[in-house]
Amino acid sequence: MEIVDLRSDTVTRPSKGMLDFMMHTPVGDDVFNEDPSINELEKYAAELFGKEAALYCPSGTMTNQIAIKLHTQPGDELICDVNSHIYNYEGGGISFNSGVQAKLVNGDEGRLSAELIEPLINPDLDWLTRTSLVSLENTVNRAGGSYYTLEQIKPISKLCKLKGLALHLDGARLFNALAETKDSALETGKYFDTISICLSKGLGAPVGSLLLGTKNHVKRARKLRKVFGGGMRQAGFLAAAGLYALKNNIGRLKEDHLKAKLIEGELKKLSYVESILPVYTNIIIFNLNKEKFTGEEFEKKLAAENIKIAAFGKQTIRFVTHLDFTDEMLERIVKVLKSLQ
Ligand SMILES: *Cc1c(COP(=O)(O)O)cnc(C)c1O
Repeated sequence: MEIVDLRSDTVTRPSKGMLDFMMHTPVGDDVFNEDPSINELEKYAAELFGKEAALYCPSGTMTNQIAIKLHTQPGDELICDVNSHIYNYEGGGISFNSGVQAKLVNGDEGRLSAELIEPLINPDLDWLTRTSLVSLENTVNRAGGSYYTLEQIKPISKLCKLKGLALHLDGARLFNALAETKDSALETGKYFDTISICLSKGLGAPVGSLLLGTKNHVKRARKLRKVFGGGMRQAGFLAAAGLYALKNNIGRLKEDHLKAKLIEGELKKLSYVESILPVYTNIIIFNLNKEKFTGEEFEKKLAAENIKIAAFGKQTIRFVTHLDFTDEMLERIVKVLKSLQ
C-alpha cells in the first residue's frame, strides 16, 4: 500500500517532468555568479514580484535569517506574531544570528494589523530598544494556514514607511495565499522591502528558497549568505527544479486547498474530534477529544494504515495537503478517519 504522508507539504518528491528538466539544465559556479540556471531563476522570481533582484538560498530559514540581519543592528527589536516561524522554528536565529530581540504580538489568527503594531514601536529615546523591522508571515503556518489580503497588508506597509521600519514577508506559502485572495504577485511586491518564498513547500521542488528585494539588498544578502554558509556551487540543478516549480505548480495549489476543505468537512462529523481551526488553505489543525485519543495514539493508529501524520501538541494534530497527495489517497484517509470512530 502506498504511504500517504500528510506531515508537511515539504515531503513531495520531484516529478518526472521536474527531474528531466533538472538533468538538462546548464550549471556553473554560483559563488562566482556563473550558474546560468540560478541566475535565470533569480531573474524570473524577481520579475514575478516586480523586485529588482533575488537570491537563491538552500532554505527558507536562511532567507528569513538573512533578511532579519539585513534590516537590523544588534540590540534592535523586531515585531512579529507570537506564532511566527521566525520566532518559533528557526532555532533562536533572531538573537543568535542578528543579536536582535522579538516583540511578540497576539495577532488575529497570526495576522498583524497597523493598529496592533503602532503602539509597539518604540520612540527614539536613549534607553529604549530601537524598533527596526516588522515581519509578517503569509500564510500563517501555526495558525492553520490563515492568510492576509493585500487590503490588510497596505496599512501595515504604510505605517512601516511612515515610521522608518523595514517590512519583511515570510512568504514560505505565499502562493497558497495568492491562490485564495487572487491578489497578484506583482502588486504584493510593492508593499514589502524583502520577501522570502519557498520552492520546496507546496510548489514541489526538492530544495530552495528565494529572497527578493532591491539590488542593494541582494548585494548585501549575497555576502550574508556566504557568512551563513549558504554559498553553493553548481546548484543550478536544484534551481532548475525551482524554476520548473514556479512555471508549472502554482496554478494547481487550489486543488490542495479543496482537498483540505473536504477533510475538514469529514473531521467535523467525527466525535473524537473536539475542535478544528478554520481551514483556509492547505493546513488542517485540529484537537482530539482527550477521552478518545492522545495525539501520539492517533498518530500510531494512522501509521498502522500507512498514513503518516504529525502530532502538533499533546492533543493537536496537523495535516498538510500537497502535490503528491492524490484523490485516491484522499479517499483512503477519509475511510480510515471514519473507521476510527
Ligand atoms: C517552512 C517554512 C519556512 C522555511 O523553512 P525551511 O525548512 O528552512 O525551508 C519559513 N517560514 C514558514 C512559515 C514555513 O512554513
